[in-house]
Amino acid sequence: MPSHLTLSLDHLRRLENFGHSISAPAYVFRPTHAEQVAHFLREAQERNLRVALRGAGRSYGDPHMASGGVVLDLRRMNRILAWNPDSGEITVEPGVTIERLWQYALEDGWWPAVVPGTMKPTIGGCLAANVHGKNNWLAGTIGEHVTRLRALLPTGEEVALSPDDDLFPALVSSMGTLGVFTEITLRLHRVHSGEVEVGAWAVPHLKQMLDDLDAHKESSDYVVAWLDGTARGKGLGRGQIHVARYLEPGEDWHPARTLALDYQTLPENILFVPKSVLWMFMRPFMNRLGLWGINTAKYLSARTLGNHKTFRQSHAAFNFLLDYVPHWERAYGKGGLIQYQCFVPKENAYEAFREMLETTHRHSLPTYLGVVKRHRPDRFLLSHAVDGFSLAMDFRVTNGNRRRLQDMADVLNRIVLQAGGRFYLAKDATLTPDAWLASLGEDTLRRYFDLKAQLDPHEVLQTDQYRRLFAPLKERLA
Ligand SMILES: Cc1cc2nc3c(=O)[nH]c(=O)nc-3n(C[C@H](O)[C@H](O)[C@H](O)COP(=O)(O)OP(=O)(O)OC[C@H]3O[C@@H](n4cnc5c(N)ncnc54)[C@H](O)[C@@H]3O)c2cc1C
Repeated sequence: MPSHLTLSLDHLRRLENFGHSISAPAYVFRPTHAEQVAHFLREAQERNLRVALRGAGRSYGDPHMASGGVVLDLRRMNRILAWNPDSGEITVEPGVTIERLWQYALEDGWWPAVVPGTMKPTIGGCLAANVHGKNNWLAGTIGEHVTRLRALLPTGEEVALSPDDDLFPALVSSMGTLGVFTEITLRLHRVHSGEVEVGAWAVPHLKQMLDDLDAHKESSDYVVAWLDGTARGKGLGRGQIHVARYLEPGEDWHPARTLALDYQTLPENILFVPKSVLWMFMRPFMNRLGLWGINTAKYLSARTLGNHKTFRQSHAAFNFLLDYVPHWERAYGKGGLIQYQCFVPKENAYEAFREMLETTHRHSLPTYLGVVKRHRPDRFLLSHAVDGFSLAMDFRVTNGNRRRLQDMADVLNRIVLQAGGRFYLAKDATLTPDAWLASLGEDTLRRYFDLKAQLDPHEVLQTDQYRRLFAPLKERLA
């Protein structure tokens, strides 16, 4: 049998995280079929190589990297295997993107029940992280809409799982460290229009933001808030809330028109500037002064022009706001960016978020973009969610601030843990093993390591994130 894993220069690539702030070399292979993945895993085990799986590389840290090892880029496994326009059930290979998924189903009146804030990720990557949307408190995570899946284990075994199987909640959320999803069946959400009805208003401080998000969750299908990370004092945590609801049958007079793909396409130009180069115009503003100016202008316009407005927006425009400006992350400059996202129970969220925002000011590292969402707990093994709120903060990385960012993240972690909060591996670049252990608890991690020993006894699947967060805990919990 010829070798599949030829570690030649042809396969050597420097891979990056989404924010271009972390990079690592790896031998990259791009399988097209599950059998090829199985060959790669077997050979990696025989030759003592470690493997990371990679979807679209949209995670903010290092869960899709294996420094010096092998990375299986699964984007070529991207066939849609079955579609039932009556039930909204679709079976896909893991490399199908969220973009392809909604574009495939929308004209038949279906929209994915859960989508992240960008349409670029793959379904396999989304299931590994168990992503949430702006409707998490209501719709749960993507894993809650999977009716069946097939996965390849590093032992070579192939498993077919339904949500009732014990392995299901462990594999979903395991960040590519327990097995490889090879086929995923999702149930989509019925929609009667290509639009949602959106409400938007400004909130003057954090307390109001959390109260309003909570109060509107009964009457909305989505709630989310943009937070001005530069505001201090009485305006700490001010921002703008967006809520949205699906339209009922009959509310849209032209559903065939709004459900059409042309109607959903995001505009090519914004203020006459081609959106492909827009990030270059943003770059001069990516400093403390520019950041303050943009956030203040955005808040003031939310308070005046956009206050208490109700309007209709396409599903794509509402859900994928960040995709309006392709490569916006490049505006952060050479050092790139990281995101810090935490999830805090509702009773403690106000105090914790207030302290966290003050911490960012004390460290002179205010967030460039803050987003707050409402969540509910779920049954997945490495779950990030709680009955509460999440705060996501983007930080610019420079050569000079990496150490300070880590120091600040350590302080933020302590605040989150004291508040009974959790972290999210898809957004993590700064967690420590201790913080990870404290957030999930020993029982959960012991169960994880038991499964790891059973499903991947030779530890073939070892991402850089696994090495950073899990591996140091293994001996300790043995
Ligand atoms: C602008 C932006 C907005 C975002 N908004 C949200 C949001 O609102 N909510 C949210 O939850 N997340 C959000 N994310 C995070 C993103 O959805 C997740 O990081 C997602 O996992 C990325 O998918 P990917 O295909 O890029 O996978 P990658 O980032 O390449 O990989 C993610 C993980 O999946 C594993 N993996 C990949 N394929 C497979 C497979 N077939 N089988 C098993 N494991 C696999 C990898 O090993 C890795 O651990 C956002 C990211 C960006 C860049």
